[in-house]
Amino acid sequence: MKRRKFIKKTSLLSIGLGITNDAFSNIHKEAINLNKDALPVVIATWDVKLATKVAFATLINGGTVLDAIENGCKIEEANEKGQSVGKGGLPDRNGNVTLDACIMNSKGDCGSVIFLKNIKHAISLARKVMEDTPHVMLSGVGAEEFGYSMGFKKENLLTEASKKAWEKWKKTSKYNSIINIENHDTIGMLAIDSDGNISGGCTTSGLAYKMHGRVGDSPIIGSGLYVDNEIGGAVATGLGEEVVKTVGSFLIVELMRQGHNPQQACEMAIKRIVNKPNSNYKNFQVGYIALNKNGDTGCYSIQKGFSMTKYQSYKNVNITSDSYLIS
Ligand code: ASP
Repeated sequence: MKRRKFIKKTSLLSIGLGITNDAFSNIHKEAINLNKDALPVVIATWDVKLATKVAFATLINGGTVLDAIENGCKIEEANEKGQSVGKGGLPDRNGNVTLDACIMNSKGDCGSVIFLKNIKHAISLARKVMEDTPHVMLSGVGAEEFGYSMGFKKENLLTEASKKAWEKWKKTSKYNSIINIENHDTIGMLAIDSDGNISGGCTTSGLAYKMHGRVGDSPIIGSGLYVDNEIGGAVATGLGEEVVKTVGSFLIVELMRQGHNPQQACEMAIKRIVNKPNSNYKNFQVGYIALNKNGDTGCYSIQKGFSMTKYQSYKNVNITSDSYLIS
């Protein structure tokens, strides 16, 4: 259904029947009978089959859905070859690798770390913020000090390869957002266990050669990640500024609450960015993935080249995302 037609239809429906958002939510809840055959499911942004495999194995071996998310994200944080997450991430323009991450559980609790230096497993530290502090976010030196107090190791996150890339970049110092860094960017992961419990995580070194102190969407609950255990979850990758401006992940979950499937919701959230007045969308990438309570999934991006990895029914596959721009 075309977007305008859809909006017209839903608003007529809601005006005519006096249906409130709460009522939509209740209708949706009643419609959900857990599809046990489809569960569990793990999905992640980009081609990260080892990460989804580890997350799925965690679930199968009796770990919680939150353990699955943490273990899966840690794989990419430790992968020094990936230059957009954890150790080996490309630095800011001053040569500092700074990490952002967040995590959200099925009870709606969340934790995040922003502008974190010298600690590789930002996702684990975000979980500690959620579980062991009265807060939701810790930033910079405070996050780092909290990490050491929790036993996290201090290490240099700038690898030789990333240092070389930064030194080369410095020769021109031209700042452009890079579309699809090596087809492997921020890792966003969502999982649902066989009882229908959903959690999610998002971890990144952010945009390469960003200004020192810059924070994107990835550690911001509602932008880079959102989970509502009654409905589903969504995560984002790409130009964080644009995701923040449209509160992308929360938007997708709310669209699913209104009855859209994950694919439709991802497409509508991308179109929200594209259709903004004076949108510069041809020059940047944003990609979303989403999962609902039935284990249905969706993904969509602005530019070609985005993909989602999905582990379901003992199959681990990388799925090329459809995109708004087709060339
Ligand atoms: N979303 C991340 C950020 O803006 C970067 C990315 O996914 O490439 O920091």
